[in-house]
Amino acid sequence: MSYNKSEVAFKEAYEVIPGGVDSPVRAFSSVGGTPVFIERGEGGYLVDIDGNKYIDFVQSWGPLILGHCDADVESAVIEAVKKGLSFGAPTLTETDLATEIVDMFDSIEKVRFVSSGTEAVMSAIRLARGYTKRDDFIKFTGCYHGHADSLLVQAGSGMATFGSPSSPGVPADLTKHTLLATYNDIESVKKCFEQSEGGISSVIIEPIAGNMGLVPADEEFLEELRALCDEHGALLIFDEVMSGFRASLKGYQGVGSVKPDIVTLGKVIGAGMPVGAFGTRKEIMAELSPEGPIYQAGTLSGNPVAMAAGLASLKKLKSNPEIYATLERRAKRLMEGFKEAADAVGVPMVTDVRGSMFGFFFSDKPVKNFDDALENDSELFGKFHGKMLEKGVYLACSSYETGFISTVTTDEMIEEAILAAKTSLQELTA
Ligand SMILES: *Cc1c(COP(=O)(O)O)cnc(C)c1O
Repeated sequence: MSYNKSEVAFKEAYEVIPGGVDSPVRAFSSVGGTPVFIERGEGGYLVDIDGNKYIDFVQSWGPLILGHCDADVESAVIEAVKKGLSFGAPTLTETDLATEIVDMFDSIEKVRFVSSGTEAVMSAIRLARGYTKRDDFIKFTGCYHGHADSLLVQAGSGMATFGSPSSPGVPADLTKHTLLATYNDIESVKKCFEQSEGGISSVIIEPIAGNMGLVPADEEFLEELRALCDEHGALLIFDEVMSGFRASLKGYQGVGSVKPDIVTLGKVIGAGMPVGAFGTRKEIMAELSPEGPIYQAGTLSGNPVAMAAGLASLKKLKSNPEIYATLERRAKRLMEGFKEAADAVGVPMVTDVRGSMFGFFFSDKPVKNFDDALENDSELFGKFHGKMLEKGVYLACSSYETGFISTVTTDEMIEEAILAAKTSLQELTA
């Protein structure tokens, strides 16, 4: 496989775009090699500018559950484009998409659309702080909620639960209200509640974490989290930007029983167009401007083309709920095949699946939190990634990302990927 054109394209991009990419993970930094530049998508495949074709397990990092160029989404978008790209005034499609979401999620009575997951989370945190009139909130190490200032935190020094900035450019003043807890560890959450002086406005969590690899929360842990929030009058925010419409039609909320207060959505909700959303009970949403005093806005929020894409996609998913069983069966088969390939050469691997989401670590112990995840052999993953790419399998270029199955990822494609994994691991251990 030759990557000549991509190599040239990357050098050219590097001259004018920092790192040659518009989002850091795309640069292949953690796996080495040159990112391939994409020419087009074809259903479950990607085609790069050198003409190489890959089975796509990244799917634009989640949104494309129907694959590339789905006929229904495509025609809805084209129809919307012909009417105008944006008006900055209400359109019927926004109400239609909002109605779909409200009908689907018991936890959402009203929803507001924004243009990214980052914006959805940033706004949800502001809403929670404004509603509870408290500044502090708790997040979990290893969960990703977008790149807003107060969410770019890492563990501070010593035993402190208060976060310090994880990026230059984020003032410590903006992260001092973010308390960091350990995923699946309720004692660490209790400690945060104890250490907060002004009180905790909210706890934000990916109920099925997908940004430290695929690491689902234990149901009992979520139940205890819910109880702690109730006890302290804090709001529980489920960030389902990734798991929404992926782990099941209703994300975590379709498979687990713990009820959040606020829910954030993104990715699949826009089917590849920039869309995010956050919603909750009417009583809380009433605090948001213009109904209430908490400010939130967006020139392109509820963009008609993006809404049309999301609506077509959600309607299709909702009217074919049986697809989730097929997606999960295929994801399980893929992980079973990867595990067999690893066993055959004596390489340790742990795997997990939630609906159309799959994850694997080169590790011999179960992964329950970010520290566990860090123990994976990411060097081996980097080599494995390169080998798989050469064999026409496009995996996420980091061992801390989740993989995705789309409705057009066939059984044959799964078997092809398993075969590629077997050969790759044999080559790497020979
Ligand atoms: C991707 C993601 C975000 C951020 O969404 P963007 O659209 O990239 O801003 C937030 N939360 C979770 C759980 C995500 O997976």
